[in-house]
Amino acid sequence: MLDYLIIGQGIAGSLLAYNLIQKGQHVCIIDDANPNSSSRVAGGLINPITGKRLQKTWLADRLFPFAHNYYTTLEKDLGTSFFHPKPVVRIFADARQANDWSAKCADDELQAYLNSEYKFPHVPSFNIPSGYTVFKQGAVLDCATMLESFSDYFSSRGCLIKKEVDYSGLKTDGPVSFESVAANNIIFCEGWKGKHNPWFGWLPFVPSKGDVLTLRIKNLNMKEIVSRGIFIRPLYDDLYRVGSTYIWDDQTESPTQKGFDELYGKLQALLKTPFEVVEHKVGICPTVRDRRPFLGRHPEFKNMLIFNGLGTKGGLLAPWFTSHLCDSLTGAGTLLPEVNIERFAEKFYGR
Ligand SMILES: Cc1cc2nc3c(=O)[nH]c(=O)nc-3n(C[C@H](O)[C@H](O)[C@H](O)COP(=O)(O)OP(=O)(O)OC[C@H]3O[C@@H](n4cnc5c(N)ncnc54)[C@H](O)[C@@H]3O)c2cc1C
Repeated sequence: MLDYLIIGQGIAGSLLAYNLIQKGQHVCIIDDANPNSSSRVAGGLINPITGKRLQKTWLADRLFPFAHNYYTTLEKDLGTSFFHPKPVVRIFADARQANDWSAKCADDELQAYLNSEYKFPHVPSFNIPSGYTVFKQGAVLDCATMLESFSDYFSSRGCLIKKEVDYSGLKTDGPVSFESVAANNIIFCEGWKGKHNPWFGWLPFVPSKGDVLTLRIKNLNMKEIVSRGIFIRPLYDDLYRVGSTYIWDDQTESPTQKGFDELYGKLQALLKTPFEVVEHKVGICPTVRDRRPFLGRHPEFKNMLIFNGLGTKGGLLAPWFTSHLCDSLTGAGTLLPEVNIERFAEKFYGR
């Protein structure tokens, strides 16, 4: 009998399974290997200051150092490179945003993230009418590469099954079982498809579809992440990833002309150098009404748990919240109320 059956090998399920294995737990993961899953399509940006109002990310002072440490250690453990710290060049939308920022950036709490001395070497290739600023502690997480390494790691331990879980095939009276796999607990990490989970679908998922493009920009040789309504980040050679859109009324995992046009238009406004689009992909983010993750046990079925709702910031949130969930499972801590799904139980589940 296993300790945990985990459904979904995106970033949430992978990190959780890995941490539980490190703690000596017996785990099996089942994943349908969907190439369009959010984690496989994600832009991979880890950015400390975001949004139109340039706000510090929620829990940044705790999450950033943790994520940097976690991924660099994980790279060594898995023997692959997928985490790349990089300066984030934030181009101001207009003079007003630049002025607001120059007043705000004196705040003590922002100092750890400012890189005021940094000179962006690619100014001539971009439209930058109102200036820019540069942040520290940003990074690119090549999530698809990390998941491939995890897949090899789990497969070599015989604890990854690649198939879709049909919920009607899950037996939940007593220990949980699916086909020949039985476990004391099940943890659902299905990303946005958790919306259709018969036990957790009552949680307020608000999935958002996002488009990403891969560009070829010859001889730009840019090492930084650029952010200006969209992001541009280096991949390798002359290739760059650009994203993303936020589409709330379409939950199909196929690219649309509308999404393409939106990104392409923004790129034309931002870039002064020629570019060529070589790929267009979409994924759907597990976004949540209050923009806080979903962690915890089902209010009624105590051997059923969820780790989901990482929204548009899975790369940053996953390491710390995986550890947080593991601590609660081993009795080493209790869940923060703002991420515990108990916050919705009364309103949406009636308990
Ligand atoms: C276009 C786009 C750009 C993004 N950019 C960024 C970014 O720059 N930075 C950042 O931090 N985050 C970004 N995100 C968000 C990030 O991708 C998510 O926060 C994160 O990937 C969510 O991970 P997850 O493991 O919860 O879900 P997922 O990645 O969706 O993983 C769930 C897994 O479960 C599988 N699954 C579901 N149901 C079943 C079933 N019944 N049986 C078997 N398997 C099942 C799925 O196929 C999938 O493999 C972006 C997302 C998108 C879509």
